[in-house]
Amino acid sequence: MNISIAGTGYVGLVTGVCLAEVGYKITCFDIDENKVQLMKDGFSPIYEPGLSELMKKNSKQNRLFFTHEPKEAYKDADIIFIAVGTPEQKDGSANLQYVESVAKAIAENVVKDTIVVTKSTVPVGTNDRIKDIIEKHKKHDVKIRIASNPEFLREGTAIYDTFNGDRIVIGAEDPYVIEILEKLYAPLNIPIISTNIRSAEMIKYAANAFLATKISFINEIANICERVGADIGDVANGIGSDQRIGHQFLRAGIGYGGSCFPKDTKALAQLANHINYDFHLLKSVIEVNNDQRVLLYEKAKELYGSLKGKKVAVLGLAFKPNTDDIREAASLLLIDALKQDEAQIAVYDPIATRHIQHIYGDTLNYMEVPEDALAQADIAFIVTEWDEIKEIPFSTYKQLMKEPVILDGRNCHDIEEAKKEEVTYLSIGREPVY
Ligand code: NAD
Repeated sequence: MNISIAGTGYVGLVTGVCLAEVGYKITCFDIDENKVQLMKDGFSPIYEPGLSELMKKNSKQNRLFFTHEPKEAYKDADIIFIAVGTPEQKDGSANLQYVESVAKAIAENVVKDTIVVTKSTVPVGTNDRIKDIIEKHKKHDVKIRIASNPEFLREGTAIYDTFNGDRIVIGAEDPYVIEILEKLYAPLNIPIISTNIRSAEMIKYAANAFLATKISFINEIANICERVGADIGDVANGIGSDQRIGHQFLRAGIGYGGSCFPKDTKALAQLANHINYDFHLLKSVIEVNNDQRVLLYEKAKELYGSLKGKKVAVLGLAFKPNTDDIREAASLLLIDALKQDEAQIAVYDPIATRHIQHIYGDTLNYMEVPEDALAQADIAFIVTEWDEIKEIPFSTYKQLMKEPVILDGRNCHDIEEAKKEEVTYLSIGREPVY
């Protein structure tokens, strides 16, 4: 079976590499020529633990190929996965221009019967649109079948997730398509849920909206805990131990970010809007998250009034640990607010710094080790819970900063220890330590 993948981002490249590892011949296509050249030279354009090694191994064994020629990618493919971005538009709805341009390119190049499988997160009805575009523009008399196969991998554990997912969702109307995709995925040994196309498209949005709801819920409980003297860690543990609730996604903090939850919650709210359904709950989830993301900055303002001229350290820039992705990261909002206040900003992240540098140029100080960011700082903000940031002991803050004032957006430290060490330590949903 010849398999092609359109888009070599976090989803496309990981899927391509993992399917090659299973033994399939995979051609990864991207319109970004530089990215393709980088991959041909054996380098991964994204940081994802374990990806480079698997990429090199499978390229060497002639199962994994890269191209920026649509003809080479689509001509002989039995299955084509669409894994291009579906970013947010101004009104919150999903921008489908990349998906549609892939559909057009497939139509113009395909010369044999093919199954087109959409992995990108797309609003309900998009696969019908993909089919229409291909039918309208195809140059040969070939049968194009379509399927929705939403992706659930998480950045940072994407390879593990691909081989150990909880389920694979396949949405198709044609039993032949389900049969072929079940065969394709059989070596992964993951339960398969097959549905119609629209249900599969909806499953992805509903899953992300539900997880975002859990996060905003626990964040609101945390905000109440702070005001009534309860501890969010104990409360989350107490409710999460109920199996109907579960422990996952009950970590209070400065909100969700990244390339999926913010855009997918907004796209689903917009989708509901288009059919005149007012999705009250989801709108509140989004609103709560917007407030939560600026909480650390507000705590700093409460402490100091003005932050003008203050030396601040921002520890962690990626939207979560183990990725270099900064899309919708809490660090961006914090840095924007601190810049507005004319603070002097030093930032540290083990992997994501170059992306931040791309946005802010020489207006920030980029540090290679967290200790350099903390030197003579007035305030330290913990934004991303990388291990190397979590493990910085209070003694280091005390030793390096003017005064040890730590604002922790990810609850990395123990409150009792903060009291013992006599640092100022403000976290989320827990007793403030002054
Ligand atoms: P990404 O931005 O990392 O990568 C998209 C890639 O597509 C880029 O390399 C871009 O150059 C390429 N591209 C754009 N137009 C193209 C075209 N016409 N032909 C070929 N390539 C083209 O995106 P991503 O994070 O991998 O997300 C892809 C989709 O998967 C999105 O819909 C996203 O919502 C969904 N998704 C993402 C994740 C995640 O964790 N990142 C998880 C599940 C689902």
